[in-house]
Amino acid sequence: MSFSDVFRNYERSDIADRLAACRATDVERALAAEHLSETDFLALLSPAAGTCLEELAQRSHRLTRQRFGNIIQLYAPLYISNECGNGCRYCGFNAANRIVRRTLSLDEVANEARILHQRGFRHLLLLTGEAAGAVNNDLLAAAVRRVRPWFSSIGLEVYPMDEAGYRQLAAAGVDSLTVYQETYDRVRYDDLHPFGPKKNFDWRLGTPDRAGAAGLRNIGIGALLGLSDWRVEGFFVGLHARHLARIWWRSRVNVSFPRLRPADGGFAPPAPVSDAALVQLLCALRLLLPDSGLTLSTRESARLRDHLLPLGITQLSAGSCTAPGGYGHAGEGAAQFAIDDDRDAAQICAMLQTQGYDPVWKDWDRAFLEREG
Ligand code: SF4
Repeated sequence: MSFSDVFRNYERSDIADRLAACRATDVERALAAEHLSETDFLALLSPAAGTCLEELAQRSHRLTRQRFGNIIQLYAPLYISNECGNGCRYCGFNAANRIVRRTLSLDEVANEARILHQRGFRHLLLLTGEAAGAVNNDLLAAAVRRVRPWFSSIGLEVYPMDEAGYRQLAAAGVDSLTVYQETYDRVRYDDLHPFGPKKNFDWRLGTPDRAGAAGLRNIGIGALLGLSDWRVEGFFVGLHARHLARIWWRSRVNVSFPRLRPADGGFAPPAPVSDAALVQLLCALRLLLPDSGLTLSTRESARLRDHLLPLGITQLSAGSCTAPGGYGHAGEGAAQFAIDDDRDAAQICAMLQTQGYDPVWKDWDRAFLEREG
């Protein structure tokens, strides 16, 4: 069963009504529950839970410490290309934007990867836009094979593939996939994606299942916060993550909290998400998904990242650049969006240690897979 089969059983307006109907007693029951039901999860996302943020945060913190200890895993993104045929209105790489387009050669990818390796990273995330003429599965596989010796884990955040594509990339050395649905609001999705292959909502919705079927070890999902009502979006993210964890139980599910950032094109978020809302969402998801990784990227400010850390975060990016070739040539090239936390990896490590966390550069080795095989 894919998540599309689950998703079609829900009406967005019903979820909004159920959220609005939650009362303080529903929130109290949810906070006392050992395993959250769907109704409990809704209660924690509801306006009624807004007065219980402190208790929610404490429970989330305790649960995270219990399941993950005091470790925070670090990773870095590497943009291979900013060429894209999609029209996502919120993105700086949108095909309609007049920016300098660039796709790195394999040597340039290797140079960027070498810099990140020298900075200590062993978990790498490769990103591209969606332009078949610029980057295809064969080129990605070649890039992965090229950088594989320096990294213990390589993830993709690229265009959706079919299952065979993920198998090809897994054979090259990829073990993780991140794909955001952007919004689970089908109507808003259609408006925000006026042209290009990404317009196909259902193909994107089934992507994490195809990655699970291909045996990828990590599957990351999320909604782009700011595109639609965060409470309803959060509900569907939780539902999606729980589905994946149940069906693809050999894979670990990660959830990210990307909030819209300024980008070329000047898109204004139609449903802005406050810091308090981000806290509520993060904690509700932690209580629903005790064993899932929760990721916070450099989209958020240093101050907010430092404060959100104890609430349930298990992975951080550090020293990120969202322009192809930007590590070797800082300031050159068009970036996908502006980052907020611009501390380098050493500064992030120092912050983590000050807060009592152990920064982890490597928590996985491909040799585990080879041994299983
Ligand atoms: S979000 Fe991705 S697919 Fe959409 S325009 Fe940006 S790079 Fe292209």
